[in-house]
Amino acid sequence: MSALGEFDLIGKYFTRPVQRVALGIGDDCALLQPAPGMQLAVSSDMLVEGRHFLSTVAPERLGHKALAVNLSDLAACGAKPLAFTLALALPRVDEGFLDGLSRGLFALADAHGCELAGGDTTHGPLNLCITVFGEVPSGQALLRSGARAGDDLYVSGQVGDARLALEVFRGTVALGGEQFERVRVAMERPEPRVALGLALRGIATSAIDVSDGLLGDLGHILKRSQVGATVEVDRLPRSAVLAAQALALQRECTLAGGDDYELLFTAPPTQAAAVQAAAHQSATPVTRIGRLDTSRSLTLVDAHGHTLRNEFASFDHFKS
Ligand code: ADP
Ligand code: MG
Repeated sequence: MSALGEFDLIGKYFTRPVQRVALGIGDDCALLQPAPGMQLAVSSDMLVEGRHFLSTVAPERLGHKALAVNLSDLAACGAKPLAFTLALALPRVDEGFLDGLSRGLFALADAHGCELAGGDTTHGPLNLCITVFGEVPSGQALLRSGARAGDDLYVSGQVGDARLALEVFRGTVALGGEQFERVRVAMERPEPRVALGLALRGIATSAIDVSDGLLGDLGHILKRSQVGATVEVDRLPRSAVLAAQALALQRECTLAGGDDYELLFTAPPTQAAAVQAAAHQSATPVTRIGRLDTSRSLTLVDAHGHTLRNEFASFDHFKS
C-alpha cells in the first residue's frame, strides 16, 4: 500500500481549477474578489465524529453534509455562495474514504458554484471544518434582527425527520427499512435552501436556518428583534413518515429536533404573495406557521387554539 503524503493527498482529492476565486490552492492565502457593491458573508461550521455524525455515515454523504450545513448559513443570510475552505483532520489516509468524501463535497459545491479555495490538512481524530464565503449586495443581507410585530412566520420544506432518524439510531424508535432510509437521508444529506434565501432578499424581514431546533432558533430571532410570537404547532410541515408517529414524538421532532437546515423567516402580511412567488421561483415549499407580536414571549397553540406548555429544549453542545 502506498500511503499518500499530505501534499499528494491535497493535490489528488482537493485541488481543482477555480474560476470565481482570484487565487486558489497552492499559496499561503487564497484571494477572493467580491464584486463591487457586494459584502462578503462568512460562516464556519465544524463537524466532529460522534458529535455531529456517526461513524456509519457514507463518506459521500459526509462530504455533502459538511458543506451543506455551511451553505445553509449563507442561505439564511440571502448570500450567494462564492468559495469555501476546508480544514480536515484525518486519523489515517484511507483513499476509499477520501474519494467518497471529495465526490460528495464537490457535487454540492458545483451545484452551487462554490469553489474550494484552500484549507488545512492534519493527522488527528476525524474532524471537518468548513468556512464558506458568499456575497450579498451591501445592506441586503437577511438578519435575525429585522422581524417586526405583525409579521407572519414561515418555515421552508419539512422539519423533524433528521431527529426521527437520530432516535432510530439511538434505539428509541423503530421504523421499517424504507421509511428509515427516507428519514436517514434528511439527517445525512440535507439540501441547503440557497435559492430560497436569495429569492427572499427584500421580502423577508428576518431569517435563520434551523440547526438546533425550530423553537430555539426562533428564540434567536425573537431576542434579536425584540418581539414575541405565537406558533401554531400543528401547522408545522412534516413528512408522512413522521406524521405516522405518536403526537408527542412528532412535536418533539418538529419543534426541538434540529439538524433540519430549513429556513425560518418572517415577512409582513403585505408580502404574502411575494413570499409565495419566492417559494415558487426557488421550487421550495414554504408554510406559514405563526405570527409575531409585541408580547416578547413565545406562545404555542394547537389546531384547536389551545395553548401548549413549551417543554421543548433546543440542542446545546454543552448540555447534552
Ligand atoms: P501553510 O502551511 O502555508 O498553511 P499548507 O502547506 O498547509 O499551507 O497548505 C498548502 C496549500 O494547500 C494551501 O494553499 C492550503 O490552502 C491548501 N490546502 C491544505 N489542505 C487543504 C484541504 N484540505 N483542502 C483544500 N486546500 C487545502
Ligand atoms: Mg497549513
